[in-house]
Order: sequence, then C-alpha cells, then structure tokens
Amino acid sequence: MKMIVMRFGTRAAVAGLAALATITLAGCGDSSAGGSGGKLDVVASFYPLEFIAKSVGGDAVNVTTLTAPGVEPHDLELTPKQVGTIAEAKLVVFEKGLQPAVDEAVEQNAKDAGFDVAPAAKLEATGANFEEHEEGEAAGPSGSTPTGTTKPAAYVEPAAATQSAAHTEDAAHTDDALDPHFWLDPVRYAGVVQAVTDKLVEVDPANAEAYKQRATTLLGEITKLDTAYKTGLADCKLKTFVTSHEAFAYLAKRYGLTMVGIAGFTPDAEPTPSRIKEVQDIVREQKVTTIFYEELVSPKVAESIARDVHVKTAVLSPIEGLSDANSQETYLSLMRENLQELRKANSCA
Ligand SMILES: [Zn+2]
Repeated sequence: MKMIVMRFGTRAAVAGLAALATITLAGCGDSSAGGSGGKLDVVASFYPLEFIAKSVGGDAVNVTTLTAPGVEPHDLELTPKQVGTIAEAKLVVFEKGLQPAVDEAVEQNAKDAGFDVAPAAKLEATGANFEEHEEGEAAGPSGSTPTGTTKPAAYVEPAAATQSAAHTEDAAHTDDALDPHFWLDPVRYAGVVQAVTDKLVEVDPANAEAYKQRATTLLGEITKLDTAYKTGLADCKLKTFVTSHEAFAYLAKRYGLTMVGIAGFTPDAEPTPSRIKEVQDIVREQKVTTIFYEELVSPKVAESIARDVHVKTAVLSPIEGLSDANSQETYLSLMRENLQELRKANSCA
C-alpha cells in the first residue's frame, strides 16, 4: 500500500517539475543551444547523481531527477511522462543495476544519451547481504534462505528466481552481485564526479571550462570529506555498526569499520526472525550502542530490535534520496552528519 502512495507522489512531483521547466523556458528567450532555455537537458536517475549533475552542470544544465523526494530509489517505477523525458534528454546519468526500470527505459529510448556510472564507481561484490530487488515485497516464500552475513539471502538458482520473482530480467542475482552503494564511499563518488564531468564536456564542449571548474570545486569538497572520515574514524572503541539496509559496505571497508545489516541491499526487505536474533547477539557481544535506521523507511524494525537489547536508535542516511524533512540537506552535509553519528555510536576519539 505504501508503494501506491509513493507512486502518486512521484507523479505529482514530476508534474510539478515539468510545470517548472515550462515556466523557465517561457521566461528565458534564449534557445541558442537547444533544449530548455538554451540549457543542456540532463536526466539523473536518483539523488547522488542529481547532486553531481547540478553541482558540475551549474547553470549550463537543466536537471530532471527520476526519483522524486521521499521515494526509495530501489523501488522506482517510471511514468510514461518520465520515459518521455528520458527519450528527449541529451544526457541520462544512471547506475546500471540499481533501478531496473531506468535500465530498461534507457536501453529502449536513450541508448546514445545514456551514461552508466557503474564502471567509474568500480563496483564490487562487497559480500553485503543481498535481497532481490522486488517491488517492495519481502523475500516471500524464498525467505527461508538464511540471511546470514556471508550467504546472500537472494542466492537462488536462476531458474528458481525466474519462477518466484515478479520481474525476471534481474533474476541473475548471485553471490557476486555488485553492491550499488558507491556514493557512500567518497573516493568512489569522486571517481563518478570525474566521469560525469568528462561526459558533460564531451556532450557540451562549449561549456567545458565551466564544467571543469565546478568539478574541481566539488572534488575539493569530497577530498575534505574523505579526510574528515579518515581522521574521524581512525580511533574508535567499537568497530561494528548496525544498519537497517546494507548500504554502507564500501564506507565500512574504506574506513576500517564492520557493517552489520539487518535487512539486505533494499531497505524495505523484512528481516527474518533468525536474522534479528543474530543481530541482537552481535549487539550484546560487541556492546554496540546504537541501531541505525534511515529516513525513508519506517524505523519500526530497528526500534523493536533496539528495545529488546536496550540500546538507542539513530538515523544514518544512505543518501539515496532527500525527503521533505531533509530537503535543505546535500550529499556533503548528510555525509558529515553520518560521520558524526558513527563517531558517537562507536566512541571515536
Ligand atoms: Zn540501497
């Protein structure tokens, strides 16, 4: 039911964006470079890519984001209007494998304009617990698969996945499924900033210098962020942190922490009772102080686990999207807040 509400939200938000774009176009007579008011039409599939496109593109681009504020990007479905926007864009920045609906729309409508950031993000199989990207459903009958830290929950034979999954095109999740959450590692994120910048320069050489300048500024901020994480997490009493969905494996690896995820890669997967017990055991054994949950998903599971073992809950943002509650934040500010939360929870000097 939650999903239906969200989809309406998406439509409304997209209609709003479209209206805004029309006004901008009408108010700005210059159309020398084509596109909206002379700006390059860029589509970004979800927030971390939107932030790059807007920061580097500046006033030379008109960015449309497919994942509206408050919508969980893993679950994104596209409206026909959004597919139209993709088809008309000069550049579509997306991450192959994260949002199957976007992959499909780009494949069918924007092959030349599509720019997949996955290679630049240097994705790896982090071994994070993996749930299938189903439409807001828990693993269902296949939920008997153990959701341990080593064996991915959705490790099913392709044939079985084809039978159980509503969408068969991404039924090939296996042990070596790539972890999509590159943006939570500043170093990987910087690589993607560079790649998107190169692509913007290629697509719109007239604005090359401005793109490069803005990229340098952004990369400087990201370097500072990386330094803050390195120093901020260098000396922590506790190395383990517990999150609701397993978005933080790259971050953990980069800065020497260990992530324990309650659910899998997708935030609204329901953890099994045995997984909840495993997590509680880890919390007790390692004296974990905090169960993290995230802003776009109900904190109920995290709260009930925390209550049972008498620890706190706090928000650790996977920065997959902004919502009304944090629309004034940016990638950089949220990453800084995450750092403070991790330092508090893990007693870092
Ligand atoms: Zn995620």
